[in-house]
Amino acid sequence: MNMKKIILLSLLVCGMAISCKKSENRKTQPKISSHVMTKEQQDKLTGEEVLKDFIEGNKRFQDGIATMRDHTKHTRPPVTGQFPKAVVISCIDNSVPVEDIFDQGLGNIFVGGVAGNFVDEDVLGSIEFACVVAGAKLVMVMGHQQCGAVKAAIDNVRLGTIYKIRPAVNISLSFTGDKNSKNSEFVKFVSENNVRIALNDIRKKSPILKEMEDNGKIKIVGAFCSLTDGTLEFIK
Ligand SMILES: [Zn+2]
Repeated sequence: MNMKKIILLSLLVCGMAISCKKSENRKTQPKISSHVMTKEQQDKLTGEEVLKDFIEGNKRFQDGIATMRDHTKHTRPPVTGQFPKAVVISCIDNSVPVEDIFDQGLGNIFVGGVAGNFVDEDVLGSIEFACVVAGAKLVMVMGHQQCGAVKAAIDNVRLGTIYKIRPAVNISLSFTGDKNSKNSEFVKFVSENNVRIALNDIRKKSPILKEMEDNGKIKIVGAFCSLTDGTLEFIK
């Protein structure tokens, strides 16, 4: 065997070793999908099932085995209609894409991003559109770790939506510990109360969504997302 063949063989063996190592690092290989929800599939779902699907997708995200998706194909089917499983109101400074956190494809969820995931009249209208017209089964309001908008509200920044988060700060004064934006535990405490206010507002200001929830046609939940590892805590 000449030197050239020895080098080529060494490279091949080395490449196989690296490939095997990568496989070992993954618990299972990711699925590849270009699937987008159909109306028939949406009709069969309940809010409870969508939430279970989200929790399982979040587990895959944390395990590094989220589904590989072909977004070029995902952008085409919606011309025939969009049939989302859920609508998620998230924050504009949430650095983890909502679809990725739940391992969902484009078009499978409607995502609204607003500073401090605050639900005002316009956002409420979007949630109603998602559920009443487009058929979403789950409404989720999701706060997140180290939320800059919530920190700004704690710091009493007087800007539009930011200032609307102040009631969440005001009902958080029972917190024992430093009540400032540098204390991440206090920021989390306020973020969770901010989500609770949003959930109450949805039920109080939208009779149609409240009725859909009471009749079991939709499920409304609150969540808090860790940016460190993507884990979720549900907020009651
Ligand atoms: Zn935020």
